[in-house]
Amino acid sequence: MSTFTSKELHASATTTITSTALETLRRDFDGDIIEPDDAKYESASRSVLASGHPAYVLRPEHGEDVQAAVCFAANARLVLSVRGGGHSFPGFGTNDGGVVIDLSKLATVEIIDHDRHLVWISGGATWGQVASALAPHDLAISAGDTRSVGVGGLTLTGGIGWKVRKYGLALDNVVAAEVVTASGAVVQASAEENPELFWALRGGGGNFGIVTAFTYAAHPTTAVFSGKIAFPASEAANVLQGWADYLRTAPDELTSNVEFANPFAGGPDAPVEISVVFDGDDPARAAQAIDPIRMLGTVIADHIAMIPYEDVLVDGMTPPPGFQVVTRSAFVDTDSVAAVLQILAEVGASERSPFIAVRSVGGAVSRVPADATAYAHRQAELMFVTTTVGPNPVVAAARPALDAIWERLAPHVNGAYANFLTSATEEDVTAIYPPATYQRLAAVKRQYDPGNLFARNHNIRPQ
Ligand SMILES: Cc1cc2nc3c(=O)[nH]c(=O)nc-3n(C[C@H](O)[C@H](O)[C@H](O)COP(=O)(O)OP(=O)(O)OC[C@H]3O[C@@H](n4cnc5c(N)ncnc54)[C@H](O)[C@@H]3O)c2cc1C
Repeated sequence: MSTFTSKELHASATTTITSTALETLRRDFDGDIIEPDDAKYESASRSVLASGHPAYVLRPEHGEDVQAAVCFAANARLVLSVRGGGHSFPGFGTNDGGVVIDLSKLATVEIIDHDRHLVWISGGATWGQVASALAPHDLAISAGDTRSVGVGGLTLTGGIGWKVRKYGLALDNVVAAEVVTASGAVVQASAEENPELFWALRGGGGNFGIVTAFTYAAHPTTAVFSGKIAFPASEAANVLQGWADYLRTAPDELTSNVEFANPFAGGPDAPVEISVVFDGDDPARAAQAIDPIRMLGTVIADHIAMIPYEDVLVDGMTPPPGFQVVTRSAFVDTDSVAAVLQILAEVGASERSPFIAVRSVGGAVSRVPADATAYAHRQAELMFVTTTVGPNPVVAAARPALDAIWERLAPHVNGAYANFLTSATEEDVTAIYPPATYQRLAAVKRQYDPGNLFARNHNIRPQ
């Protein structure tokens, strides 16, 4: 008589469940089912910043396919990754041994109401596809800075883009969503239908299901004034403080970021680059808004030009294999701005500095009531990100210095921006979601995903 270990019994049970689930999938699914022996597997298995070895990559053709794919992952009891544009820093868009639902074929962008500028966007579209589709209609949606970033991932946890101070986060412009939940059901979410789910989707990430379509209220756009003004590294402290002071009174049409200590441009000697987008095509008003930035120090480069809004977005880059990108982020409230910028300026002047980017938020973001959405950091004046990039050993060696920088910053910063966070620990989830937000999200999670099928994210646990 043969005996089996519990591990073997489990493996055999899983195989049976999977083959039954697979038969059903092959019957019901019109899209691509990519397995490791498929020629498309190598590129399909990886997301932009992570490699993985999933058992199945499924590329749905339409909403019914998404339902079939979700039911397959649930019935096969396999780890599930949902991939939109594939840019998640922790590599949520792939896994080992599980299922990836890759939404890239769902990329429709359609204006459904010209008077109200309502735009229906499938859950796998990228912001470049959106910008290109809306440009001929002189419309835009404030989103990120990169064409290849996905509408889904960026929107579901925030969306800090080039018109953020005028129109708020990408999620502030969502008016409805269509979601396939863990049971495979299609659920509509808006202020009128399932409002609690609608609240949770705007900040709670991919925890509640797959958004097959978003409806956004787009805004009319003209060409914009955009570009960079650079200052010497030695003036970093003054330039940073002056920039933050000015942004408090600057018009909402002006959105601005500062980047410094860029390791590819001289590290501690790299110029301090202030990027701006002035949302308008009136040269006099643009100059009035941008000139105070030119007064902040010794201008060593000034490249501001009027360009179509679509051209503000840049193309993303895929790092070479073996390269790691480690991002960490935090928010800064008004009282702490001076202290944080002073520390960042000092850090930026040291040889071991990460690349530092500071984004001014405020404006329209802070005018949305704190409990209107699950994005919990409305009061912040700034959000900043440190990024370390390089071959794995280089990034590992930089770790202690990075941890020391963050320890120094800790008393002055709060929270974390989920979209710029390579790690996904309990601590990170607590930083993203303060207790009241988390508890409310957990109640929604219990309703729509009680078994935690959607767990490859900054995870809200149902229990
Ligand atoms: C080069 C680069 C530039 C960036 N610029 C900005 C920026 O300017 N502003 C900003 O705010 N952020 C920015 N980000 C961060 C970006 O918003 C996040 O990395 C985001 O997660 C990427 O979304 P994605 O759909 O491309 O990623 P994916 O890896 O495909 O998705 C990330 C996660 O989102 C969820 N998800 C995605 N689509 C769906 C969907 N349709 N339904 C349900 N869940 C879904 C899933 O949980 C998934 O695992 C940038 C990132 C990079 C790499």
